[in-house]
Amino acid sequence: MLHAVDDISLTIGAGKTLGVVGESGCGKSTLGRTILRLIEPTSGRVLFDGKDVYAANRREMRTLRKEMQIIFQDPFASLDPHQTIAEAIAEPLKLSGEYRDKQKRGARVSELMEMVGLAERFYDSYPHELDGGRRQRVGIARALALNSRFIVCDEPVSALDVSIQAQILNLLTELQERFGLTYIFITHDLSVVNHFSNDIAVMYMGRLIEKAPAEELFLNPLHPYTQALLSAIPVPSLKNRRERIILQGELSSPVEPPKACRFAKRCRYATERCQNCEPALIDQTAEHSVACFLHSEKARED
Ligand code: SF4
Repeated sequence: MLHAVDDISLTIGAGKTLGVVGESGCGKSTLGRTILRLIEPTSGRVLFDGKDVYAANRREMRTLRKEMQIIFQDPFASLDPHQTIAEAIAEPLKLSGEYRDKQKRGARVSELMEMVGLAERFYDSYPHELDGGRRQRVGIARALALNSRFIVCDEPVSALDVSIQAQILNLLTELQERFGLTYIFITHDLSVVNHFSNDIAVMYMGRLIEKAPAEELFLNPLHPYTQALLSAIPVPSLKNRRERIILQGELSSPVEPPKACRFAKRCRYATERCQNCEPALIDQTAEHSVACFLHSEKARED
């Protein structure tokens, strides 16, 4: 049986950002969608402000949906090509039933466009007339339309040019400070979440393998996979450059995950024990946990 995401426990403080990092196919997007219940989980629990999201009925879920939103990787694919920008931003307002009055709705659309830095002249434009950065601003405006407080940002800058990436990250930061938003920021690129996240969770083949405050993770990565991800980030200063770790070996099958460390086939430190048992995520300090036998003994001794 394929379990895209298994045995993951995370807590995010209000107004904070949790970066979720891992290679494509590691289950990070599934995790984001499952938290929002866009994918129904087979088991587990999500508490939002103390409310159990998975136990919510339809009516309760409609209310929760306003507060919990998603920004997608590809804004072009998530926009209807036949809708103008104003119509696309107005859609969630219409569906909520809170903005039946056309004038009120139009005013809110203009307010949202200003909030995300979209000039009024794009009001009647179509998605294909906008560049990628502006299309992502439309996606952000839609996510904010109903005053949401929690947003899953699913690779929101991966499809954008580097210069535009910085603009969108700055916009997300500004909006977070202004409205106290809480983000889960999903990305395959650790360098993107470095300055943006309070905490970082690293995933590998559907499992959480390391979690720590962002600064601590960058200074003291414990899991060999996190070390490999960090070694791939270009560093301008020769002094601070890390040895590049090239991952070799095949990925284990996600359909029949081995009863072993899922990283064992690619790990340069793998021992027989790693091939026969799966390491649990163990706290090394109050804030830093890792799932690797290189560290589990140490945690037990402490
Ligand atoms: Fe490598 Fe073993 Fe640690 Fe897995 S448990 S990451 S194989 S050393």
